[in-house]
Amino acid sequence: MLIGCPREIKPQEFRVGLTPNAAQEACAHGHQVIVETGAGYGSGFTDDDYTAAGAQIVDTATEVFDRAEMIVKVKEPQAAERKQLREGQVLFTYLHLAPDPAQTRDLLDSGVTAIAYETVTDRNGGLPLLAPMSEVAGRLAPQMGAWALQKANGGRGVLMGGVPGVRPANVVIIGGGVVGTASARVAVGMGANVTILDRSIQRMSYLDDIFHGRLTTQFSDSAAIAELIQRADMVIGAVLIPGAAAPKLITRDQLATMQPGAVLVDVAIDQGGCFETSHATTHQDPIYDVDGILHYCVANMPGAVARSATIALGNATMPFMLALADKGWRKACEDDPHLLEGLNTHAGHLTYYAVGKALEIDV
Ligand code: NAD
Repeated sequence: MLIGCPREIKPQEFRVGLTPNAAQEACAHGHQVIVETGAGYGSGFTDDDYTAAGAQIVDTATEVFDRAEMIVKVKEPQAAERKQLREGQVLFTYLHLAPDPAQTRDLLDSGVTAIAYETVTDRNGGLPLLAPMSEVAGRLAPQMGAWALQKANGGRGVLMGGVPGVRPANVVIIGGGVVGTASARVAVGMGANVTILDRSIQRMSYLDDIFHGRLTTQFSDSAAIAELIQRADMVIGAVLIPGAAAPKLITRDQLATMQPGAVLVDVAIDQGGCFETSHATTHQDPIYDVDGILHYCVANMPGAVARSATIALGNATMPFMLALADKGWRKACEDDPHLLEGLNTHAGHLTYYAVGKALEIDV
């Protein structure tokens, strides 16, 4: 199969759909890989890295879209890219169609077979192509929060790990899923005093086990949150209710009960945010102040560490990409019901129930 990887054109997107390692694997499987010049630069991969892996560099995205039987990307295709898709071609990327009727319409009009990373499942009920980005955002959250806590950035001037004779920072993590667990790992590693709240007893039991008493778990209700945030130096919002907007767990009035210069890191901002005062920010201007409390609410946190994020995503997508290339999308989806869950559009038909329901389109 001829696999194509264009350069990402969405603003602020530095990741790339195929790493040189993934290109090398595809070539080893007998496939041909074409990569748009410069596609890997944002993630620290040169054209030469791809050439050494056996891929061919092409000058334009148009050539990639024209020639490739399967396009592998990171972000949903932008309007200019969507015009170049066609029936019989496979598109493998993040799509997030439910809130995006324009993109959905264009994909249906193009006839492309679109397989969305975010709806591919695994046998544990997880989302294996979303989880690596949650791992990245989760591990980044205490790092960004620690930066915001520094005095020069408007924070309380508190060191995460303290020093002998000085208490470490109090970090409260709301939501103990993939993001929350990854945040806890880093915050504990930095020496902070960590409390993690969740509503799932089973999840808290798991956290209790793996952290061997190095953090405290607490059931997440409004009284517990109200009490804990008063002493918190940093609160990380990491909740998810699948298919719903994030619940608002800290109100604006409650900010007055917090210590001035404390930091809220709202990782759930891509689902609307879990603090009442959150609004999405960018890497250029990541933090803002409401009533003396700093907010970090970057909606695409993994973009800050594009190279790590690209490699993490590439590791997760590679087996699926190879299955699609080796067997063709139809046989690959027949053989793997979890990959079939990723199928969102085919030959002008919407094939994913939740998107159809959200957009009122027949599936
Ligand atoms: P997850 O499903 O693995 O975990 C969510 C956890 O929240 C679950 O354990 C659940 O029990 C818990 N939860 C639900 N309601 C709660 C409540 N009221 N109080 C406490 N816990 C509650 O999800 P995840 O992969 O960890 O993702 C978390 C959020 O981070 C999502 O909104 C996701 O979209 C977002 N995210 C953002 C970025 C970014 O760049 N900003 C990147 C990746 C993920």
